[in-house]
Amino acid sequence: MSTIAFLGLGAIGTPMARHLARSDWNLRVWNRTAERAVLFAKSLAAEKVTHVRTPAEAARGADVVITCFPVSRDVESLLDGPDGLLAGLASGATLVDCTSGDPATSQRIAARLAEKGIGFLDAPVSGGVAGAEGGTLTVMVGGDAATLERVRPYLEAFGKKIVHCGAIGAGDAVKAVNNALLALHLWSTAEGLATLRKAGVEPAVALDVINTSSGRSNASMNLFPERVLTRAFPRTFRLALLDKDVGIAAQVARDQKLPTPMLQLTAELFRAAHAGMGEEADHVEVVRWVEQLMGVEIKGE
Ligand code: NDP
Repeated sequence: MSTIAFLGLGAIGTPMARHLARSDWNLRVWNRTAERAVLFAKSLAAEKVTHVRTPAEAARGADVVITCFPVSRDVESLLDGPDGLLAGLASGATLVDCTSGDPATSQRIAARLAEKGIGFLDAPVSGGVAGAEGGTLTVMVGGDAATLERVRPYLEAFGKKIVHCGAIGAGDAVKAVNNALLALHLWSTAEGLATLRKAGVEPAVALDVINTSSGRSNASMNLFPERVLTRAFPRTFRLALLDKDVGIAAQVARDQKLPTPMLQLTAELFRAAHAGMGEEADHVEVVRWVEQLMGVEIKGE
């Protein structure tokens, strides 16, 4: 029977881990705030999920260890020491990092693990909390193709589309660029709709047109109708994390000395919005920030 460990029971990690709780796999969970792991294991006691007290304990004897933290440095910081992942991971095991991380840190982590015969894949996900709950995430993977084939059944527990993007760091890079596009769409759609409202056009009417025309995006088709016009702004993905993702995309471009004014500006705008709105704001709440700058709300009469 395979043994899997899942570390990082946050907004997206929790529903991902739930799919790994199956009777034919042993699942161990670890979370920095232990209470979350205790409650998670309790809720899945029938599937024999266990919570452990250290990353080392999670990794000991595990075939696959999956991590899902805010940034790659969080993974790196859990490698060392008597309680760290390296104290538990055995040669032949694989660490799959589902953090939306950065390529440079993933490459450093992979090199350290390779010295001990441990595999590594960067495997960030897209599809949001709803996709994680439905087991329909897209998983973008960087690393060795044969290693991916070995762990594919575990990724299929929460992922519907699993794409090998290239060498270590390629998954992180694709994820960062995807999210930079999300950020760009959120900001530009907010500017456009606020401008139209000032010009006397109802946002719902404008979206009705845009969403059957060439300016549409996931932001205009789903996020604005469901979260902005309703003023619901549910908290599913923190603005802090989107700021981090856009920053990674901008850094990847700078590392290659590419002229990318749009990416760099988006990174700057999201850095300011994150600083102004704090750690707990949802990513769609950046629209509120744009509304404040423009002095108009995107809502119906
Ligand atoms: P959350 O902020 O909800 O959860 C973060 C998790 O990481 C918590 O379990 C937290 O533990 C843990 N953690 C934070 N810092 C550390 C640390 N230094 N050491 C150990 N554990 C730590 O984040 P999400 O679940 O939303 O996001 C996780 C990753 O997934 C991010 O990279 C994000 O960009 C990505 N992602 C998120 C999506 C979403 O819709 N939410 C969609 C796609 C990708 P504790 O309980 O102690 O706080």
